[in-house]
Amino acid sequence: MIQLTSSAALLGLAGCAGDSPDDTENGTEDGDGEELPDGVSESEFETGPVPEAYMRAMSLGGEQRNPDELSTKNEVTFSEYDEAEENAAHQPGRSCGNCADYIIDQNGDGYGACAEVEGYIDRADWCAVYEVLPEPSVPDGMTEDELATAEVPEGYRTADSQAGEARDPENLASHGEVNLTESVEAIADGDAAPGESCGTCAEFIPDQNGDTWGACAKVEGYIAVEDWCTLWEHVSEA
Ligand code: SF4
Ligand code: SF4
Repeated sequence: MIQLTSSAALLGLAGCAGDSPDDTENGTEDGDGEELPDGVSESEFETGPVPEAYMRAMSLGGEQRNPDELSTKNEVTFSEYDEAEENAAHQPGRSCGNCADYIIDQNGDGYGACAEVEGYIDRADWCAVYEVLPEPSVPDGMTEDELATAEVPEGYRTADSQAGEARDPENLASHGEVNLTESVEAIADGDAAPGESCGTCAEFIPDQNGDTWGACAKVEGYIAVEDWCTLWEHVSEA
């Protein structure tokens, strides 16, 4: 089961891991060597249409995709992360998986979509209209230092993650134990693979109350969608 931002959507999911959808088993590749989802042509992969579940889905940053107002991949200098690193406009650690416009995998093929760009989008890709995820502000009555260990609001305590894992408030790791940090930093430092973030993680519990914070089925305290930790697992793996 996947939830997008604060809304729940029930979905069937199957395997994908690492820095691209490399566990898909159909074997057909596009011109850049990316494995195409089963039954999807190279042309569909590049320009769409994407499956219905993505058409008007919400992105990690809460933007609804409008299929009539999208850029082509060429228009936005879309590229894989390795190529992006050669682009002066790219900043280390930035990839689709921590972009406000990214729409996470809805159907288990390992790919997502984008609220700004047409076609299938891998979390490890990047383009020139990358948008930083909004940083949640410290909730009223709390200090920044308290966020890591604070009890999360009632709606999150035993909630299911976006891949359907129930949170057990008695069995959670601390931020320190799992090296919780910002995903952009973790990727730039080589600790995380491009595309890894809480937003693309199976354990993430998206915002339930509009404060833009989330929570985690494995880690205590407040968790932001742009964070990352060593327990990261792609939502498609669940
Ligand atoms: S980096 Fe570009 S293609 Fe990737 S999610 Fe963001 S806007 Fe879309
Ligand atoms: S990356 Fe870590 S903190 Fe973030 S949702 Fe996944 S398990 Fe939780």
